[in-house]
Amino acid sequence: MAGKRDYYEVLGVAKGASAEEIKKAYRKVALKYHPDRNQGDKAAEEKFKEAAEAYEVLSDDQKKARYDQYGHAAENMGQGGGFHGGGMNVEDIFRNFGDIFGNARGGGGGFDPFESFFGGGGNGGGQRQRGRKGSNLRIRVRMTLAEVAHGAKKTIKVKKHVQCHTCHGTGAKDASSVSKCTMCGGNGVVRRTTNTILGQMQTTTTCPQCNGSGEMITKKCTTCNGLGTEYGEETLTFDIPAGVQDGMQLSMSGKGNAGEQGGPAGDLIIAIELEEHADLEIDGQNVIYNLYLNFADAALGCNVEVPTVDGKAKIKVPAGTQAGKVLRLNGKGVPSVNSYGKGDQLVIVNIYTPQKLSAEEEKLMEKLRQSPNFKPQPQKGEKGFFDRMKDVFREG
Ligand SMILES: [Zn+2]
Ligand SMILES: [Zn+2]
Repeated sequence: MAGKRDYYEVLGVAKGASAEEIKKAYRKVALKYHPDRNQGDKAAEEKFKEAAEAYEVLSDDQKKARYDQYGHAAENMGQGGGFHGGGMNVEDIFRNFGDIFGNARGGGGGFDPFESFFGGGGNGGGQRQRGRKGSNLRIRVRMTLAEVAHGAKKTIKVKKHVQCHTCHGTGAKDASSVSKCTMCGGNGVVRRTTNTILGQMQTTTTCPQCNGSGEMITKKCTTCNGLGTEYGEETLTFDIPAGVQDGMQLSMSGKGNAGEQGGPAGDLIIAIELEEHADLEIDGQNVIYNLYLNFADAALGCNVEVPTVDGKAKIKVPAGTQAGKVLRLNGKGVPSVNSYGKGDQLVIVNIYTPQKLSAEEEKLMEKLRQSPNFKPQPQKGEKGFFDRMKDVFREG
């Protein structure tokens, strides 16, 4: 690129300078043109960038070798040859070479150009955070099995810290009782002049008096005593997705307790509690139902109604059904919050043995007892109840 100054010249070092000499030279030039010391001076900012570009190349063995051989022409040599070519902004420079400035800290400490440039920690970028974040609010929500199957919209009244109704969260008595912070003059940051081995440096930190808001309350709101919050009630409406499980926790940001003096609200943590169903049990995504048949229905076959998460369903029990048989209702289980599809409902057949018999029933039973078809036959290839259950759960 035409008109570009030689990188060695920019840093003021000889061509054969050692890495340590180059680093020292860069530090010196960078501090001279440091944006904090040359506020609003465009020419200084250009010099600061120029020095960073030179240092980026000369501090990298490969780039330096290419530059030594081809000069600035190396920048147009395609892959791997690309230097930044002055494209770095001041923030890039601090990100890339922040350690260089860090090394410049004098014995007295306190000089941190990185912090000074970005206005100190998380409050950088001109974002002023007011007040303190509210705490998280924990509630329990009971879900029926049907609600787990389909998801539910819940409306719940909770007691929590809400925004003060008098001051609307500011904590001030009225508009005239908010004034500019006396310490920072409303800037939210304070500048300090520190003596370092390299001379006087200015640093900026978040104003300790107003915590960066730039404002001060001269007269506190009497309802909340300046906190900006009061204890109250709020009606919350939220959706619980289908497929939640007992003990699961959902979190909704910004729905918790109100923050102090206009700070952001905390989160709402919703703990799921599953209500027991009278007839159905849940096992993962499957729903289990224990069906009790009388002996005659099992022998003759029958149509029965069974409860499901969506009300009653009719099923056909074939003639000769053995105890332990599992009838499957496809897709009548519950979904999962993390995946598609639903489980099944498993209807487990149990045979109810009568515990009291009338004289007439006893006579009938005595007859049947002698009947050859009532003699138990080993079920060839039939698995026992527990084996079958294991299979079912393996499939499910
Ligand atoms: Zn108030
Ligand atoms: Zn202040």
